[in-house]
Amino acid sequence: TVVVVGSLNVDQVVTVDRHPAPGETLVATSFALLPGGKGANQAVAAARRGAPTVMVGSVGRDGAAQVATSLLAGSGVDVTHVRAVDAPTGLATVTVDRTGENTIVVVPGANASTGAEAVLAAADTVASAAVVVLQGEVPADGIGAAATAATGRVLLNLAPVVPVGREAVLAADPLVVNEHEAALVLRQLVPDAVVPTDESSLVGALRSLGIRSVVVTLGARGALVSDGDDTAVVAVPSPRVVAVDSSGAGDAFVGALAAGLAAGDTLLDAARQAVRVGAFAVQGVGTQPSYPTLDDVLPRVEA
Ligand code: ADP
Repeated sequence: TVVVVGSLNVDQVVTVDRHPAPGETLVATSFALLPGGKGANQAVAAARRGAPTVMVGSVGRDGAAQVATSLLAGSGVDVTHVRAVDAPTGLATVTVDRTGENTIVVVPGANASTGAEAVLAAADTVASAAVVVLQGEVPADGIGAAATAATGRVLLNLAPVVPVGREAVLAADPLVVNEHEAALVLRQLVPDAVVPTDESSLVGALRSLGIRSVVVTLGARGALVSDGDDTAVVAVPSPRVVAVDSSGAGDAFVGALAAGLAAGDTLLDAARQAVRVGAFAVQGVGTQPSYPTLDDVLPRVEA
């Protein structure tokens, strides 16, 4: 199985002609409440790619909890380890202007209670997973506890980059980050590091710290992959598509990567599939609703 320990949110998406100034009131042009949170997004993505998937996380005892979990069960995710706690369901308020520029305010809410204690309550489930998927939207001690409880592979998507401690980063196989996050992780581990401007060198620098495998996503350019004994970095190009909404593309990539690894694929083969899933996801609006199932035809990388 794939076990995702992470966040569940409601994404409250408002579109406006322009962003309001402080103190100003504007009328929105549209509004939507959608399920989100990096953990839930990744669980939906993995399950839709055919992996038996379990979500471990927390929601509130409120109406928003229904929205946050609305696509999980329908996508085949086991939600028995999603606990209801005495805090509001996590919320991301997203405001998008006419040009597509957004501002986002995140309320962790119930996700703040997915710490070590909550993870240990699901320790047997975490330990039984072929792949444990972690992100930076739950407390660092929860991430650390999950990395320790895991006996299978730990896929650490350290987004956002939070201080999780060296052991958790070194447990990653792979660490999956975008270019920006890769530089922050390097600085977290080596505060005086000179961050290489060349992306391959950045991957090499992370590998040289002892991280067993590293995947850096590069948006429309695909991803870089490095694993195994030699520290060579392999470029995995993404299919070329017309991007409509890139939100949640990184989570689609991570979920698909986890599904591939759980099915026994090599990291490189899993990444070759994950860039196609990421490219599929940017063709549709929103996060979870745009993720492909096994019935969808994925875009191909042109030769
Ligand atoms: P994040 O959102 O975490 O920064 P990326 O933007 O790197 O993640 O996107 C993750 C994956 O989604 C990429 O590796 C790629 O496969 C796909 N992707 C993202 N943006 C595009 C795009 N404009 N065209 C094609 N594929 C894309």
